[in-house]
Amino acid sequence: MSEDNDYDIETLAVRAGTVRSQFNEHSEAMFLTSSFMFGSAAEAAARFKGEQPGPIYARFANPTVNMMEARLAALEGAERCVAFSSGMASILATVMGLMKAGEHVVASRSIFGSTVQLFSNILGRFGVETTYVSPTDPAEWRAAVKPNTKLFFVESPSNPLTEVSDIRALADIAHAAGAWLAVDNCFCSPALQKPLEFGADIVIHSATKYLDGQGRVLGGAVLGSKDLMEGVFTFLRTAGPTLSAFNAWVILKGMETLSLRMDAHSRNALALAQWLEAQPQVARVWYPGLPSHPQHELAMRQQKTGGGIVSFELKGGKNAAWKLIDATKLLSITANLGDTKSTITHPASTTHSRMTAEQRAAAGIGDGLVRIAVGLESMADIQADLARGLA
Ligand SMILES: *Cc1c(COP(=O)(O)O)cnc(C)c1O
Repeated sequence: MSEDNDYDIETLAVRAGTVRSQFNEHSEAMFLTSSFMFGSAAEAAARFKGEQPGPIYARFANPTVNMMEARLAALEGAERCVAFSSGMASILATVMGLMKAGEHVVASRSIFGSTVQLFSNILGRFGVETTYVSPTDPAEWRAAVKPNTKLFFVESPSNPLTEVSDIRALADIAHAAGAWLAVDNCFCSPALQKPLEFGADIVIHSATKYLDGQGRVLGGAVLGSKDLMEGVFTFLRTAGPTLSAFNAWVILKGMETLSLRMDAHSRNALALAQWLEAQPQVARVWYPGLPSHPQHELAMRQQKTGGGIVSFELKGGKNAAWKLIDATKLLSITANLGDTKSTITHPASTTHSRMTAEQRAAAGIGDGLVRIAVGLESMADIQADLARGLA
């Protein structure tokens, strides 16, 4: 494939970033080697000085990892991608690579639990302070800006209530404050949403989710301009939260079916959300693809579809939620998402159990709330599995 990226996302997903060895293998190869040789002492010196391109050591360069990075960069429309061992390592690297003690983060209140722990408990100890604000009210972000604010951090749609943030509005506020906007694009993947097109500076992925798409490996990535990614790469090179060649290969090949899978996840999720909305036991459904969703119009401007995650509140509270979950025979009771297999979770007692009851109430996470990450099984089978528990 030629270097111009003027191809559609389906084409880029199977072709972008491929580099072939001397054997001209058709499918991308996995390079299991920790180091690389040089032709001479002079060549070694030139590589180390950065005067000659090419890999040195797999902590910071491996051809399989580099293929995965180049492919994801093409999908997101980013100048550069730096891969990491997990989504959390990617978020850590973003802060460690771009910020210093005494600087300030404004973050959405509705972000992944471990991300809150990272910002509040770990980075807080190193002098990076975080203020949490509403994902859906840009005025709160503007009001939270301080002279030392360096980073805005948001997830859209959020977990588990699928709140949608206005990426363009947040980017404008961040830029006026001299800060960067980072978007965790894990829920949509570039097949459904490209935050850089709406003015975001940094895109972060847990590749563990839809990019692999089959629940096999952990991985992560940070994407953005060449300038910004230099700091992030320097952290990788020095500190070593490196994506393994095997995991990179799994994710690289997983991305080839990304658009197909995201379309199928979305079709199933929309059908499930519509069906749930019609069930008398269900008080409310949260899905960005439904006209009843508070940010439906914004979601349809920013995203290709509503995505694969559906949450709903049962009228019967925690009892009804646990009964429904325990009655399933097909769905997996697990908090993971982005898998071919549908998963069902009770957020209040699992992913969000570390919050106090008051914090959960403020975040709108009721005791009757159930989250389904809709997989690729037949819709009729998923529906039948839930109908039994609802009855
Ligand atoms: C899972 C997840 C992460 C963390 O990714 P890991 O690969 O598990 O480290 C970060 N953000 C979101 C939105 C996630 O769902």
